[in-house]
Amino acid sequence: MSDQKIVFLGTGGTIAGTAANMFEHSDYTAAQVGVHALLARLPGWNDGRGAERYVVEQVAQLDSKDMGFDVWVKLALRVAHHLAQDDVQGLVITHGTDTLEETAYFLQALLAPAKPVVMTCAMRPANALVPDGPQNLLDALAVASNTGASGVTVVCAGAIYGAVDVQKVHPYRLNAFSAGDAGPIGFVEQGRLHLLRDWPRGNGLPLMSGLADAAWPRVEIVMSYAGADGAVVRALLKAGVQGLVVAATGNGTVHQDLEAALVLAMQQGVKVVRATRCTEGRLLPSVNDALPAAAGLTPVKARIALMLALMQAASMSAAETGR
Ligand code: ASP
Repeated sequence: MSDQKIVFLGTGGTIAGTAANMFEHSDYTAAQVGVHALLARLPGWNDGRGAERYVVEQVAQLDSKDMGFDVWVKLALRVAHHLAQDDVQGLVITHGTDTLEETAYFLQALLAPAKPVVMTCAMRPANALVPDGPQNLLDALAVASNTGASGVTVVCAGAIYGAVDVQKVHPYRLNAFSAGDAGPIGFVEQGRLHLLRDWPRGNGLPLMSGLADAAWPRVEIVMSYAGADGAVVRALLKAGVQGLVVAATGNGTVHQDLEAALVLAMQQGVKVVRATRCTEGRLLPSVNDALPAAAGLTPVKARIALMLALMQAASMSAAETGR
């Protein structure tokens, strides 16, 4: 346990949601309660040391189904700012569950922090009779306070997941997340960490300095299914799409008509990658593949990886041409 500061960044979600009555878990409005108010309910929060030990900021207040690039940029800049402070041990970010895995992957791919950035959430609104948010917040605080922890993780229902592997797998259970074959990094047991494997590591991307002004490339996801004929791809080409992720069947197979449209897109300079639509396991590429494979990422994460790769390519070519 460190004496350094823990930073809490609020972004909304069900953890900050309210329902008309305390028994309602599905019909509620997300993002109603400020992060300061959520934290004030935690045991020990008002013990007089709070101001010394905690920094609290409301970065956004939204239902994460509506997450967008503007909030991602704002959040990444605040996370990077706090990570750079010598007296900060770690961060906790409250977030809706719907796009939690996307924001987690975005922050890990971009920043690959050496300090812990712990995202947490809830499946029940803040005014539920038995809300899950307060325990998730306490568990996230335990992870962020651990001096050995690093990287972007997600803490929900007592489990700690890595940003690259985590996925929301259930629409309403309290334990709504899974890391598939990878399994959780560990568990929070009565405030103590029981670790099963290493924290997320990586190198991050040199994109932070121009992030606020960077243009986000248009990258869309198309799915392969019975009768997929490529019409969506042709419409997207007309709309000026720059990248396409195909959520492929099984081990990356794509309907022949959709594949023909995607090959045409590649010939026109659009970046195309395949990710499996299976919820577990990773796609194994083979030498005869017509389309490149995403490196073990789900379609939504492959999309983020492709957007960041295109942004990096654009920033390098601007640097080369002196613009
Ligand atoms: N729609 C909510 C959100 O993603 C769901 C949640 O937080 O559980 O903000």
